[in-house]
Amino acid sequence: MTLQNKTAVVTGASRGIGQAIALELAKQGAKVVVNYSGSEARAQQVVEQIQAAGGEAIAVQANVADAESVAQLMNKALETFGSIDILVNNAGITRDNLLMRMKEDEWDDVMNTNLKGVFLCTKAVTRQMMKQRSGRIINISSIVGVSGNAGQANYVAAKAGVIGLTKTTAKELASRNILVNAIAPGFITTDMTDELSEELKQAMLAQIPLAKLGQPEDIAKTVVFFASDAANYITGQTLHVDGGMVM
Ligand code: NAD
Repeated sequence: MTLQNKTAVVTGASRGIGQAIALELAKQGAKVVVNYSGSEARAQQVVEQIQAAGGEAIAVQANVADAESVAQLMNKALETFGSIDILVNNAGITRDNLLMRMKEDEWDDVMNTNLKGVFLCTKAVTRQMMKQRSGRIINISSIVGVSGNAGQANYVAAKAGVIGLTKTTAKELASRNILVNAIAPGFITTDMTDELSEELKQAMLAQIPLAKLGQPEDIAKTVVFFASDAANYITGQTLHVDGGMVM
């Protein structure tokens, strides 16, 4: 186990990639705060899965787009486990539409959750990580934040913003031994991608050199890498975990 005695906060961890990240971090010995905004029952299931395997976890409801809610999340993490060593900014939504049809609230909702949420959560853990003189922040961006994608102006702008925020935060916090990296997943099978048409899924598959869709565990294992000693000399980077889709 590489993450024993570490505490991790994972946003949007009740399902999909966030759930896989929470389980994988716990498998490596980390105590995990499973943040959720929707179904408490699903978040509680993730906690029970971790506990059944001998790990420690709690579920905490919070909206990452709301500063007060984020403060309560981080306070609860600290009260329960005494430190925050790893923050995984995973929570994300899509509100897809062509640019000409995109409504202002579709733009705002996605920016607030996917970009402002990363800013708020990062800011909320920074003081504690500075005190600890160590920390790892891992931001889940997307490959479309690198390549662009028709019909996702809001999502792409937010995910490209996450890459910029990752670099800036990495520079600001490096002297305090806080390492900040991003992961850009390609096409990963989750509830988010299940909503897409079969035709679109086949078109995506045709663009993937490894000729298969990614699994949430592929992202979770990369998070463990960035959180572990193996990544001691890596900061400000964005790693594409996409089967070779964008090179
Ligand atoms: P998902 O929809 O299955 O899970 C997203 C989670 O975020 C849910 O648990 C949801 O409740 C939570 N969430 C949404 N808004 C929130 C808020 N305001 N506060 C707290 N939690 C909130 O999606 P997923 O596929 O597991 O995606 C996880 C992350 O990976 C997202 O950031 C997504 O953009 C990114 N990503 C996914 C893919 C993919 O192919 N699935 C590809 C690239 C990037």
